[in-house]
Amino acid sequence: MNPVIINMVSLCRHYEMGEQTVKALDSIDLQFNRNDYAAIMGPSGSGKSTLMNIIGCLDTPSSGIYELNDRNVAEMNDDELAQVRNREIGFVFQTFNLLPRLNCLKNVELPLIYAGIAPEERKVRAEEALLSVGLGDRITHKPAELSGGQMQRVAIARALVNKPSIILADEPTGNLDTATSHDIMEMFGALSEAGNTIILITHEEDIAHFTRRIIRLRDGRIESDEAR
Ligand code: ADP
Ligand code: MG
Repeated sequence: MNPVIINMVSLCRHYEMGEQTVKALDSIDLQFNRNDYAAIMGPSGSGKSTLMNIIGCLDTPSSGIYELNDRNVAEMNDDELAQVRNREIGFVFQTFNLLPRLNCLKNVELPLIYAGIAPEERKVRAEEALLSVGLGDRITHKPAELSGGQMQRVAIARALVNKPSIILADEPTGNLDTATSHDIMEMFGALSEAGNTIILITHEEDIAHFTRRIIRLRDGRIESDEAR
């Protein structure tokens, strides 16, 4: 199996703003391996979210190549893209994005509903995912009954439930205290050792230092890419 799961060649994402062209991403060459654990850093406006959205197939490059699992994303149709987003990629957000009226189990089941999995199997797999993030005893709690760290664990369980190869997280510890942030980062570390690709955005150096690779963006370009 090709160890490279993500391959970007001369990738650009430009926005036409009247007379001006904003180069959100400017000729990016970047590869990720299957068990990478990487942080993307850089000042506000440097292109971090744009890069993450393209990796997650939520946005498409203006030019250049993006290959995911040896497949050119530009050649996928809408159905294939939706499948990739649902099956290959798990998203984790700063604000957790849980549905407040659903309990933990139901929140984690959501991606399985979209994937058309039968109710019995959904329940089993959602329970498994919640167990794997240490929340086996909270499955009937609603988000408001949990701490921030627990809410983020539910969100991670939801991201994991389809067994995606890639976890993408935009400031996943932005709303968590230091100790809880470190727990979450260690959990991501364990997931990457189990074979997942973990890519996260952070502006905190101490958070980035839990990863094994730090990519720094500036003005839409890679300023440095350091394996540690
Ligand atoms: P970061 O996440 O690092 O703060 P972004 O990827 O959000 O940066 O943005 C990179 C650049 O692209 C910024 O200059 C931003 O203003 C611009 N940009 C992002 N999204 C859009 C958009 N939808 N339309 C126009 N410009 C955008
Ligand atoms: Mg951003």
